[in-house]
Amino acid sequence: MEKHLLLGEETIRSRVKELAEQISSDYADKEPIMIGVLNGVVFFFADLLKDLTIPAKIDFVRAASYGSGMTSSGTVTFTKDVEIPITGEDVILVEDIVDTGLTLKHIARRLEEKGPRSLKICALIDKQERRKEKVTIDYCGFRIEEGFLVGYGLDHDEEYRCLRDIYQLK
Ligand code: 5GP
Repeated sequence: MEKHLLLGEETIRSRVKELAEQISSDYADKEPIMIGVLNGVVFFFADLLKDLTIPAKIDFVRAASYGSGMTSSGTVTFTKDVEIPITGEDVILVEDIVDTGLTLKHIARRLEEKGPRSLKICALIDKQERRKEKVTIDYCGFRIEEGFLVGYGLDHDEEYRCLRDIYQLK
């Protein structure tokens, strides 16, 4: 399989900075809880949070919808829950890629049950091609039509995760 450069490090960094500026302005007098969806989100999450100019708390959830291949299994299992209380809090769920939308919908539903004051969604990449669940992405980094992406936290069978740029695998 070959990898083709899609989004370079500088392009990613400047867009992440813009997202952080927008979130900082929207939550100017607040202290949101940022919840990252492990594992793919780690690089994006760290960069985004470093660029915020407001205080924020962090926590993580983990859900598995993909096996080891490049297509979604369709079933979502929740393997790690949040550890800090989110009831009555402003929560921003941060995801690497939204593909079918099944994972995000599942996690958002779980978090809603805990009664946050607000719940917004931030995703680095919105991949429309195979969307099955309608999801509203409040803060979106890039819209990509299709393809399987790796790098900047995104893996294929645990490979490519630590690359600085984002590539399309073909
Ligand atoms: P969904 O449930 O929206 O179909 O898939 C969400 C999860 O699948 C993402 O959090 C990500 O872990 C994985 N995923 C979806 N598309 C891609 C992709 O193009 N590349 C990689 N590496 N993972 C993806």
